[in-house]
Amino acid sequence: MKQLFISICLLTLLAIPFEVFSQTQPCVIPNKDLLVERLLKNKERAIGQVSSRAVTYVPIKFHLVAKSDGLGRVSEKRVLEQLCALNADFAPLDIVFYIKAGFSYINSTTLYNDPETSTGVQTMSNFKEFNAVNVYIAKDATPPGANDLDGTILGHYNPGFDWLVMKISEVNQFSGTLSHEMGHYFTLLHTHNGWDVEPYNEGLHGNPVQNTSPGGTAAEKEDRSGSCKNCESAGDYICDTPPDYNFGFGWNGCNPFTLNIQDPCNTVVDPMENNFMGYFIGCGSYIFSNQQGQLMRTDLANRPELATSYIPNTSAITQSVELISPINEEVTPYYNFVELQWEDVPGADRYVVEVSRSSDFNVQPIRKVVWGSYALIEGLDNDKSYYWRITPFNETNGCGESDFSKFISGSTVGTKSADMVNNWFITPNPASANSALTISMEANMGFDATIALYDINGKLVNQNVSNRFESGLTNYNLSTDQLLSGMYVLIIRSENLTLHKKIIISN
Ligand SMILES: [Zn+2]
Repeated sequence: MKQLFISICLLTLLAIPFEVFSQTQPCVIPNKDLLVERLLKNKERAIGQVSSRAVTYVPIKFHLVAKSDGLGRVSEKRVLEQLCALNADFAPLDIVFYIKAGFSYINSTTLYNDPETSTGVQTMSNFKEFNAVNVYIAKDATPPGANDLDGTILGHYNPGFDWLVMKISEVNQFSGTLSHEMGHYFTLLHTHNGWDVEPYNEGLHGNPVQNTSPGGTAAEKEDRSGSCKNCESAGDYICDTPPDYNFGFGWNGCNPFTLNIQDPCNTVVDPMENNFMGYFIGCGSYIFSNQQGQLMRTDLANRPELATSYIPNTSAITQSVELISPINEEVTPYYNFVELQWEDVPGADRYVVEVSRSSDFNVQPIRKVVWGSYALIEGLDNDKSYYWRITPFNETNGCGESDFSKFISGSTVGTKSADMVNNWFITPNPASANSALTISMEANMGFDATIALYDINGKLVNQNVSNRFESGLTNYNLSTDQLLSGMYVLIIRSENLTLHKKIIISN
């Protein structure tokens, strides 16, 4: 009991300073028996199986959890950085995660602070996307039944519900925590399985170490042949990861483990420090072993709910974004709405837009995801300086570089679209190519406007300047000749009005 108490204290102590860097922070697997059952089945399936190495696309749903008032949510930019790191970690396995149908936003103070409660679990169930890997990002990641570790758990996989929960502070480009949890999702155990809550201690466990781990499983032995071999049924049940009695816990970073600790067969144990599924922290890079990779791919192949024929956009995003307007502390015409414009970035088909009073984008942030290289921002104060930042991305690639600039909100109120336009719609929508679209505008006052059509990549495909919409109803016909199937965004701009709607063309 004393050792357990010390472990918990260490968990608390370690969790704080290393959060930013670590992949190695403690995580707890509730219902671990379910995971072990699947792992052993996958081992049977993998025997003699020639693994296909075609790229597999895996749908992932990020649930960005905020308090009930909408505050405290992880930023989309952080999630994209995390996606970038995750896909880099899984590239050697030919697995590419793609964001399925945008981000999910959940406002629930209970889920945010206490995902382990029945209300938290119920909320996650309500929002779970069946055909995707579900990742809930909240302030706390404590799993059910681990209340005594409240606040110290950085992430967990729950095999009972088949979802991942991540602590907000662990979601970033440096953390390997999500890749570690994804290992659990695909049935991997810790390399130090059996020693999770009670790391090796010579006084307690002996040297040579006793036969049984504190978790009740056999202590894994170093030998990979002969009568000492037990790697198939001990530790993580995987033979190309050496024994580990949780030596990483409390060890000095990723330095080679040099203590002379012997397994029950008197062989010195040499753990793999840079394995994703261990607890050594601060390794420059981490790996999954070949057998770990094979088992994860086997698990993936046996998850029909994740199978898809969808081919996501995997374009690289190498160019940085160029902001057009407003920049260099320009004063905007109005403050009640501000139009942001930037250049399209090749490979990107959507953008995270952030506007904030502070350059770290944390003070009164306004955040949205848009499809084209344009955003309308409302709800600003007058005569105040604002920063705005654009991050280009697509569904598999969150590695795009951001840029930011600054503007001063104007002091006058412009006429908002709601005052000028009573209603407007596009028919038919969805439409087939080569059949004209009709824009029906019910305006409260006449105005001149430019009508522009952008494709999903933000590329301008059609533009008509100098169109007049009269007060009352005006119908305008828009040709769809030669448009490919897909989603488009129609933008109508006048001097003090911007309207946009999505259009789907299906052939
Ligand atoms: Zn873990």
